[in-house]
Amino acid sequence: MKKQGFWALSLVEMKNKLPSLFSFPMDELGEYFVEKGFPKFAAKQIFNWLYQNWEHDPENWSNVSKKVKEHLKENMTIDLPKVVWHGLSKDGTRKFLIGMHDGRTVETVAIAARDRLTLCISSQVGCAIGCTFCHTGTMGLTRHLDASEIVGQFVAVTKWLHENVSLDTRLSNIVYMGQGEPLHNFENVKKATQIFLEQNGLGLGQRKVTLSTSGLVPQIEKLWDFPPVNIAISLHAAHNDIRTELMPINKAYDLDRLFAAIRSIPLKAHRHITYEYILIDNYNDRQEDIDGLISLLNKKESKVNIIPFNEYPGSDFKRPSDKKIKWFQDALMKAGLICTIRATKGDDILAACGQLKSMEDKLNLWHGEEV
Ligand code: SAH
Ligand code: SF4
Repeated sequence: MKKQGFWALSLVEMKNKLPSLFSFPMDELGEYFVEKGFPKFAAKQIFNWLYQNWEHDPENWSNVSKKVKEHLKENMTIDLPKVVWHGLSKDGTRKFLIGMHDGRTVETVAIAARDRLTLCISSQVGCAIGCTFCHTGTMGLTRHLDASEIVGQFVAVTKWLHENVSLDTRLSNIVYMGQGEPLHNFENVKKATQIFLEQNGLGLGQRKVTLSTSGLVPQIEKLWDFPPVNIAISLHAAHNDIRTELMPINKAYDLDRLFAAIRSIPLKAHRHITYEYILIDNYNDRQEDIDGLISLLNKKESKVNIIPFNEYPGSDFKRPSDKKIKWFQDALMKAGLICTIRATKGDDILAACGQLKSMEDKLNLWHGEEV
């Protein structure tokens, strides 16, 4: 039987679980306080403590009134998800397994590159989309993460870095490229993103946050109601037959429908769309794939990011040779498309999408104790 964390809640406790303070965007917290008869500005003070001073013990919130603190003590939690495992790659990439209150775990990866420290966060436990090349996809969906569990990954990793690396360490960018399909969990991801962007809190710029989606058309059409962060579309194929083989979602929303939805994204705010393209050896790396991409993509508004397939045990797909990857990139660039190749990071600690989570049982990493 799977071991549970020592803070795992019983079913009765879960039912009665209080809302987490980390799940409130600042405006919502302000409205909540007004409704309860407290001043709105308490929300700003608390955001400052939580996200700027990294002080999570209300006893030390010197400028917050006693009444507000007492109210919070009875009506909310400020528990954070826990770092239950950490791995450091030779290239400096750090992978974290994060344990939630019910003993579920997700992965979060911190990637250092140039002047950035990017956190790749998860939006769900598992994923319902079932892409055939993706390890997370083989797990199915266990549950959505709530906003506090998404923000909690950022806060828990920051605290861990402060304690174990340096107090100056600051995560600068966020990509929703861990486990899960963020647009399938629209409302929680929206709230978490509002918290990431909040000036009085974490204060990340809109261009520092990237949401990656497999192409959930109805939710793409709702992006006007989402903070204007960078959008990445997991395209992976320029022809419907191949895309359907790789991503079953293409049966419901094929390339025509996907691109019609993409055209509805308010581009002025988003500037451009990034298209992720996993390059798989002898599969979607042919001349006709290049031709297909050139005719599909608008050169002014598109960026292509080639992701050489990250091999994992049990997968039939292979990564193309470096020569082939370069050939593919050059052909797209010659046609006038901006095209980058994503550096493979953290190979030695299985940092690709879903890989650690599914190794978890085999490695027996999760004993319910904090490390
Ligand atoms: N569900 C969202 C976001 C999470 S996946 C999406 O699919 O866009 C983040 C990225 O990792 C996606 O582009 C996904 O296609 C890619 N990915 C998944 N498995 C991979 C693998 N084995 N090798 C390389 N990239 C992979
Ligand atoms: Fe889900 Fe993204 Fe993996 Fe597809 S690639 S199964 S959408 S996490």
